[in-house]
Amino acid sequence: MSDKKLDHHIENNSDYKGLKVNKGIPQPESVNNESVKRFLKKSRKLLTTQQYVEGILRGDITVLSKAVTLVESANEKHQKLAQEIISECLPYSGKSIRIGITGVPGVGKSTFIEALGSYLTNKGKKLAVLAIDPSSQNTKGSILGDKTRMEELAGNKNAYIRPSPSAGSLGGVARKTREIIILCEAAGFNHIFIETVGVGQSETAVHSMTDFFLLLMLAGAGDELQGIKRGIMEMADVIAINKADGNNVEKAQMARVQYQNAIHLFPKKGSGWTPNVLTCSAVKNEGISDIWEQIETYKIQTKNNGYFSEKRNRQAIYWMHETIEEQLKRNFYSHPEIKKKLNDLEKDVLNDKKSSFTAAWDLLDRFSKLK
Ligand code: GDP
Repeated sequence: MSDKKLDHHIENNSDYKGLKVNKGIPQPESVNNESVKRFLKKSRKLLTTQQYVEGILRGDITVLSKAVTLVESANEKHQKLAQEIISECLPYSGKSIRIGITGVPGVGKSTFIEALGSYLTNKGKKLAVLAIDPSSQNTKGSILGDKTRMEELAGNKNAYIRPSPSAGSLGGVARKTREIIILCEAAGFNHIFIETVGVGQSETAVHSMTDFFLLLMLAGAGDELQGIKRGIMEMADVIAINKADGNNVEKAQMARVQYQNAIHLFPKKGSGWTPNVLTCSAVKNEGISDIWEQIETYKIQTKNNGYFSEKRNRQAIYWMHETIEEQLKRNFYSHPEIKKKLNDLEKDVLNDKKSSFTAAWDLLDRFSKLK
């Protein structure tokens, strides 16, 4: 803007008391500079499978993050590369304890993970925090929020924090999370936390990929067992009543006894483990080490009685079937012939020209002949 044009602004009259309009600055050349463009292009460039694998095995978090981005990508080329990296990393994975953490929004999951995570990293351990957030696929919003809330952990080089992959069905997100676990383990993160909210199907998905399941709860008014579904309580290996601090201590102790009594009525677990109910305060860092001790004891006990590896084997088979089903479904629905015909058949069903089953068989039959 020229100086002459600036004079037209009433803000630049000598009697105007507010802010003045100043002359702007031109776009700095360096932003469009060739070397910057080259740098940006280079940083987007894919590495070779071997480079990814070597970086991951070295524990290089930047390379790990890039590989995780490939796993999350819907691009076919990225997916192919991701699968190669996962296969190469597989022999180096598995040597960890995988811990699922669930609880309603606001119960203190982030605060708790931050407290337990710091406790572990202080002992020289490495941990990765992943999340399965059912809300972010449906509404693009996030119940779990962005994980920069765990500020202390986020700045710790022994912690890797990754928010939930946001695209796809819950099954798809869960599969990706399982693949990301493999990469994190190969990178030396031997404590894997998978966080989710205790409000729907996602905890079943988390349960199917973890060794230990921790349920965080609050001491609430009224019937203590109404807050969370019984099925989720039955999955828990430890229930921790969080926010046992200040005026809440007594209430938390009462809730602890109530939950412990309720747990005794549940069917006995295949692991041979009897879940305990503990109290803790994530903000005050109280009761955190007791919970960790429970996890350690569980690990030793289930490794000794064979349950630990038996459960992992079962999970591996489960994920194989899940992946097959998902891939079949994707191939089916993305086929152009099927896409075209699906619409017509839906109309036929709505107009009572065909039953749902005939329409489905019609499509399935068509699909089997297409290949
Ligand atoms: P999330 O939604 O389950 O991840 O819950 P957050 O970790 O974000 O915590 C929700 C709120 O509860 C925050 O304001 C925390 O500061 C608070 N909070 C978390 N843990 C405790 C605790 O042990 N005691 C108290 N008094 N507040 C807590």
